[in-house]
Amino acid sequence: MKFTYESYKNLLNTLKIHGYQSAFYHNWQDFEKCAILRHDIDYEMEMAPYMANIEREKGVFSTYFVMVTSDFYNIFSIKNTQIVKLVYNMGHEIGLHFDETAYPDIMGNSEEIIKKINKEAKLLEQVIEAPVTTVSMHKPSLEILNANLEIPGMINSYEKVFFRDFKYVSDSRRNWKEPIERYIENEEYSYLHILTHPFWYHNVEQTLHDTIHRFISNGNKQRYETFDFNFSRLDDVMKENADYLIDSKGQ
Ligand SMILES: [Zn+2]
Repeated sequence: MKFTYESYKNLLNTLKIHGYQSAFYHNWQDFEKCAILRHDIDYEMEMAPYMANIEREKGVFSTYFVMVTSDFYNIFSIKNTQIVKLVYNMGHEIGLHFDETAYPDIMGNSEEIIKKINKEAKLLEQVIEAPVTTVSMHKPSLEILNANLEIPGMINSYEKVFFRDFKYVSDSRRNWKEPIERYIENEEYSYLHILTHPFWYHNVEQTLHDTIHRFISNGNKQRYETFDFNFSRLDDVMKENADYLIDSKGQ
């Protein structure tokens, strides 16, 4: 499968043709055959609406997991708040993507981790102005992975059921380790749990290297714009050295 929007559309079509309905973590039991579509936003909010829009057009719905402790994006900034609300208003669910490594002192401590998850979910609720009741883990420790955390009022997408009763496949590190399309076409499993990262998908496929390179290079431009917004007459000071403002190719 290519890492393009066209290819993702085909994946959604194939799911439909083979009778897989799209489900949320909350309602999959209502279906005899379904796919939970999940997206983790690890680096860049801007890529989420492209995928969200494709899904909306195809009449399928998914869960977007976003972080509140990221060094890459601030979910409370006006730009990101607008994006996450846009995705939510398309009918998708917004869940919490929880990074345990943000709390080095309590790593592996289930009780304390649950408190942090609840705290972060409350923060995210302020952004989307709706309940946040699903969580996925970003780089969980082995202890937390094995703990099968039961979080009051929330569904943990890492609960064993989502791996035991579902066939779980993901494009982590921009690499499908398993033949997702064949699984769907052969209808080998009644329940599919599919993780895709919007970050890897473009109109024209980009290599792993180029995708990351573009993101890092464009960081200069974004930082300049943010500085400009906060510092009057920035151009007077910086324009002669502004070669880093040239868009890195490939977007
Ligand atoms: Zn992640």
